Amino acid sequence: MSTYAAGFARPDRRSWAQPAEQPMSWHAVEAHRPTDELDGEVELAVCGAIVQVWGSQQWGRLSAGRSACAECQRRTAPALSQAG
Ligand SMILES: [Zn+2]
Repeated sequence: MSTYAAGFARPDRRSWAQPAEQPMSWHAVEAHRPTDELDGEVELAVCGAIVQVWGSQQWGRLSAGRSACAECQRRTAPALSQAG
C-alpha cells in the first residue's frame, strides 16, 4: 500500500528540465511517514521533480485538478484507485 503526500514544485529548484509554462504544479511524493510529519520537507516526487511537501494537502484530491503533474498522476493512478 502506498500513500502519497502532495508536493509543490519549488520555483528556485526548477532551473533544469522543468518547462517554465507550469509555474504552479503539484506532484506526488511517496510518503513513508504521516504527511503532517513531512510538511515543509524537500523531497523527490515520483516523477523525479524536487518538490516541497505541503502537509495539509492531499494528493488524492489534487491529482484530479489541472495543476497536478501529469506524470505523477499517471504513476499514482493504480495506487489511488485501489485506495478508493
Ligand atoms: Zn510530478
